[in-house]
Amino acid sequence: MSPHADKNATTAVPKRESALGISVLIVGGGVAGLMAALEMWRQGLDVQIIERSTSRLTAGDGFSISHTIIRAFNKWPYLRKKNQEITGHPSLAWHNLKGERLNGPTDMIYPSPKVDNSKEDADNANINKNNKEGEVSSSLYRHSRPKFHLMLETQLEQIGLKVQYGKRVVRYFETPEDEKAGVELEDGTTLKADLVVAADGIGSHSTKITLGKEVPARSTGLSVYRAAYPVGIIESDPEILEKIDTTPDGESIAQLWIGDSLQGDAITAHFARNKDEITWAITHKVSKGSSESWSKTVVPEDVFKVTSTIEGWPDYANRVIALTPKDKLLDFELVWRDPQPIWTSSSGRVVQIGDAAHTFLPTAGNGASQGLEDAISLAKCLRIAGNKENITEATKVHNKLRYERVACLQKLGICNQATQYGQKSSGSGETKSKPKYIRMLMAPWTWKHDPENYAEEKYHDALAALKDDRVPFQNTNVPHGCVHKPWNFESLLKSLEDGAEPDLEGDWES
Ligand SMILES: Cc1cc2nc3c(=O)[nH]c(=O)nc-3n(C[C@H](O)[C@H](O)[C@H](O)COP(=O)(O)OP(=O)(O)OC[C@H]3O[C@@H](n4cnc5c(N)ncnc54)[C@H](O)[C@@H]3O)c2cc1C
Repeated sequence: MSPHADKNATTAVPKRESALGISVLIVGGGVAGLMAALEMWRQGLDVQIIERSTSRLTAGDGFSISHTIIRAFNKWPYLRKKNQEITGHPSLAWHNLKGERLNGPTDMIYPSPKVDNSKEDADNANINKNNKEGEVSSSLYRHSRPKFHLMLETQLEQIGLKVQYGKRVVRYFETPEDEKAGVELEDGTTLKADLVVAADGIGSHSTKITLGKEVPARSTGLSVYRAAYPVGIIESDPEILEKIDTTPDGESIAQLWIGDSLQGDAITAHFARNKDEITWAITHKVSKGSSESWSKTVVPEDVFKVTSTIEGWPDYANRVIALTPKDKLLDFELVWRDPQPIWTSSSGRVVQIGDAAHTFLPTAGNGASQGLEDAISLAKCLRIAGNKENITEATKVHNKLRYERVACLQKLGICNQATQYGQKSSGSGETKSKPKYIRMLMAPWTWKHDPENYAEEKYHDALAALKDDRVPFQNTNVPHGCVHKPWNFESLLKSLEDGAEPDLEGDWES
C-alpha cells in the first residue's frame, strides 16, 4: 500500500463479477478515469490506467458531487466510509459585490414529492435528513478535489491497481485487423487493448478519432480566479472569520456574491470556509493571465486589478485574496465546447468519458458527477455486453444512454452563467433563496438517477433502437417530458443575454 493510503480506513473490497476476458486501457488518472478503473474492475474487466503527469496531481480546490455518486459508493466500503469523513453539506447565502448579505443561509436540501424509501438510500448518511416521514431528499455534497481524488486512488490501490504515471498519450488509433484499439505515447511506444477509454479531460486527442477533428473551443470572455487554502492561515483575522461565516454546527455557508451584470471587471464571487479550508472565486473579464489550465498560477496583484474596479468591494475580501499561498491561485478561463453527440470511434473501441466527452461551466456544478456517472454506466454496459465481440454495441449504447442527460445539465450551467444563477431572470428584483436553475439542478430527476440500474433497465431497448431507427427510444434520465433537440452554446447564451427564456421543454423541477 502506498504511503498516502489511509491506515484507518476499511480495506474490504466489493465482490468482483466473473472475468469477461476484455482488456481495457484507461487514459487519464483524473476522477472519471479512476472511477472507471474501479467500476470496470468490479464488473470483471481487466484494467490498466495511465496518466501523463509524473505523480498524483494535488492541484485544485473543490467541486460538487451528486447523490447519484454517493449512492454508488455504497458498493465500495472504503469509499462509503471515507466519503462521509471528507464531504460537506454547505447551505447557500446570497450577497451583493459589497459583501452584504441579501438572503439566506438556506439549506440546499431538495425533497422529492414521491415516497421512495429504498433501504440503500435510507442507509446513506445525508439522505432523509430533516425530512417529513416518507419523503426522500438529497442535499448538496461539496468536496475538496484533492481529497476526493486521493480517496479514489487509495481505493484503487486496495484492489491491487496502480495508476501508471508519466505516460502522455499523443494519438489514439484502432486496428480493425485484430479488433483492438491503442494509443501512442510521446516517446513513440504504443499500447493496445480490446477497449481504450479516453478519460484525459479537456482537449483530449481522442476527438480526432471520434469526430475526425478537434472540438472547437470558444472563450466565454470570462475567467475565474479561484483558490482553496488551509483555514489556519486566516484564523488570526477576526473580521474574515466573522464575515466568511459558518452555520452554528460548523457547516460551511457558500456565499454567492452577485452583481447586476459586469460590475467593474467582475460579475460574481464566491467565498466559503469549513473546519479545514477557505475557498474563494471571482468570475471576471478574461485577462492576460487567464488560461484553461489547472496548473498555471497567477498572483494576488492580478486579482486586485479587478477588485479595485468594483464599487464597495470590502477590504477583508482583499485580505482573503492576499493570504492565498503562492502555488494555489489559478485564473481558469471559462471555455465552451458545444455538446458533442458522438463519444465513440467508428468501431466503438475508443470511447470518451468525463471532460473528454463533455465540458461543463462551473455554474452547472456537474463536471465531476457526470464524469463519474459515465464511468459507472460504461462499466455496466460492458458487463451486459458480456464479451469482446459486443464491445462496439456496449460503448454505443452507453453513449445513447448518457448524451441527452449530460446536454440537459450543460444547458443549465449556461442558464446559470448568463443569469447570475437565475437571480437576474427572476424579474422581481428580489433575491430568491433557491432560484429556478438551482432548483432544477437539485431536482429529483438529477439525483434519483442510478446510472448502473439505468443501464440494466434500458440497455436492450437502446440497442434495438440503434440497430433499427424505426424503433422508438426515449431516455428517462432527463427531465420528464423533455425531448432532446440539438442546440449550441452561442445561440443559447445570446438569447439568454437578450432576456429570453431558454427552451426547457418538460418538467425540470421534479
Ligand atoms: C489537477 C486538476 C485539478 C482540478 N481542480 C478542479 C477544481 O478545483 N474544481 C473543479 O470543478 N474541477 C477541477 N478539475 C476538473 C475536474 O476534475 C473535471 O472537470 C471533472 O472532474 C471531470 O473529470 P475528468 O477525469 O474527466 O477530467 P480531469 O479531472 O481533468 O482528469 C483528466 C486527467 O487526464 C490526464 N491527461 C490529460 N491529457 C493526457 C494525455 N495526453 N495522456 C495521459 N493523461 C492525460 C490529466 O493529467 C488528468 O489527470 C481539476 C482537474 C485537474 C486535472
